[in-house]
Amino acid sequence: MSQFDVVIRGGTVVTASDSFMADVGIRSGKIVAVTENLDDGAKTIDACGLMVMPGGIDSHVHLAQPAFGGPTMADGFETGTRSAIAGDNTTVIPFALQPRGASLRGSVVDYHEEADGQSFCDYGFHLIITDPTPSVLAQELPALVDDGYTSFKVFRTYDDMALNDRQLLEVFSCARNCRALVMVDCEGYDAIKFMTERLEAAGSKAPYYHAVSRPESVEREATHRAISHAELTDVPIMVVHVSGREAMEQIRWAQNRGLKIYGETCPRTSL
Ligand SMILES: [Zn+2]
Repeated sequence: MSQFDVVIRGGTVVTASDSFMADVGIRSGKIVAVTENLDDGAKTIDACGLMVMPGGIDSHVHLAQPAFGGPTMADGFETGTRSAIAGDNTTVIPFALQPRGASLRGSVVDYHEEADGQSFCDYGFHLIITDPTPSVLAQELPALVDDGYTSFKVFRTYDDMALNDRQLLEVFSCARNCRALVMVDCEGYDAIKFMTERLEAAGSKAPYYHAVSRPESVEREATHRAISHAELTDVPIMVVHVSGREAMEQIRWAQNRGLKIYGETCPRTSL
């Protein structure tokens, strides 16, 4: 009987540091050997002329999220994870969104029900916090971090999701205590609202004015404010879907000061 369940034979193995010809031996779902001339496994896959590399991890993907009156999310777990696999991603990390007034733990249970049995790849969840009540901050979040949900996401805009500065500080402080990472959507809610209402009053409602309603300054100032609050509470944050140079410059400024501020690019502003 073979010592391997699966052997991937004859491919070019690509790791974080090297690429070389080797066979890969897998037992009980784990890679246990990467070397030349392995014996056949119970199943042997011919990878001659191919590259053998770890699956990708898509760490920012929204699946099956409620729309709050906006456009309906196109992908649920079945279609979203099917396309992930087609693009060589073997793990996705979508978001478990807490609707205002609801329990965060209950939301996580709901998302697992949505995903379990529907997904073609591995998945985890970031926690979107829209309602940081005392019980969410003191009980639910620490318990969820203990269970392995170690990243939060918060929004500075959208009527049903935006946190104000005080709430942001409370979430940052909780993350500091739990040793979690906070992903922050940095757009200035009040500035966008002000611009939107002014444009609508002038009858400027064409899609073009979406961009006019949120110039670079609203992203820049929200990014700077999040960085300042992260500095105050001594917590690492990830500024998500950075879409302009000015926000990027704020992140670079913070990093040059030794702050643990990370950024993730996005070609446009979105959820
Ligand atoms: Zn997003």
